[in-house]
Amino acid sequence: MGLVTGKTALITGAAAGIGRATALTFAAEGAIVVASDVDDAGGKETVAMIEKAGGKAIYVSADVSKPTDVKTLIAKAVAAYGRIDCAVNNAGIEGKITPFADQPEDNFDAIIGVNLKGTYLCLQAEIAAMLKSGGGAIVNLSSIAGLIGFPGLSPYVASKHGVIGLTKNAALEYAKAGIRVNAVCPGGIDTRMLDSLAEQATAGAQSSAEMMDPLHPMGRIGTPQEVADLIVWLCSPRAGFITGTAIPIDGGYVAQ
Ligand code: NAD
Repeated sequence: MGLVTGKTALITGAAAGIGRATALTFAAEGAIVVASDVDDAGGKETVAMIEKAGGKAIYVSADVSKPTDVKTLIAKAVAAYGRIDCAVNNAGIEGKITPFADQPEDNFDAIIGVNLKGTYLCLQAEIAAMLKSGGGAIVNLSSIAGLIGFPGLSPYVASKHGVIGLTKNAALEYAKAGIRVNAVCPGGIDTRMLDSLAEQATAGAQSSAEMMDPLHPMGRIGTPQEVADLIVWLCSPRAGFITGTAIPIDGGYVAQ
């Protein structure tokens, strides 16, 4: 018996990185998966990987920053499987590293649009669906950048702090309706996003591991699988009394 056997799970940003690992882990733990992304090739590949391992999944293309895309995504998920028990708002972008005073407005708008507004739009639609089906569990991807600042990343830091605010409010407003809402706050995780940040910060001189490993007390960055395991556990009945939290998964980074 898996952690989430018989549940349906929606994951945004499921074409790569943490989102793909989360989709695969939900399926391995017994859930039926709705994988969504703007990267259609990657999203379909995630579904193929789930099916190859004996699981069940569909792919739905959606840009989380677009209200009509999000409405269609939730409608397609409910039409396919009847309900959404678990939802993971994972889609995110890092944008460009730029000093605060030089941040171009379009960098701010793009990052806030996907990371914060996208999470807001998904939460609204997921909660509406979960209210109809009697409850559920939602995990939002914040970051250690939702807990502390990182020079050069002001829009990203603002977006990830905002995700924790949305998480707390949604948790409070729907606690009695049986909907749990939590955030996870990963440290450096070995994905394309971290590679992009390392490339920008060191102009290609250091890999993400070379740059980020020493900054973590455990001496290494994390894996997408480690984050996926926390997310799926948080969505499972084992975490039934946990709501409104923002849990670091960071090798000790924010304990420093
Ligand atoms: P990634 O770039 O590997 O994956 C992000 C996925 O989101 C991609 O598949 C991308 O196509 C998708 N996406 C981007 N914009 C989208 C949009 N508008 N609509 C739908 N999908 C969209 O990055 P990742 O590292 O796996 O990041 C996943 C989440 O984890 C993000 O929210 C990120 O901010 C967060 N996070 C990552 C790290 C890290 O070190 N990698 C640390 C903390 C938090």
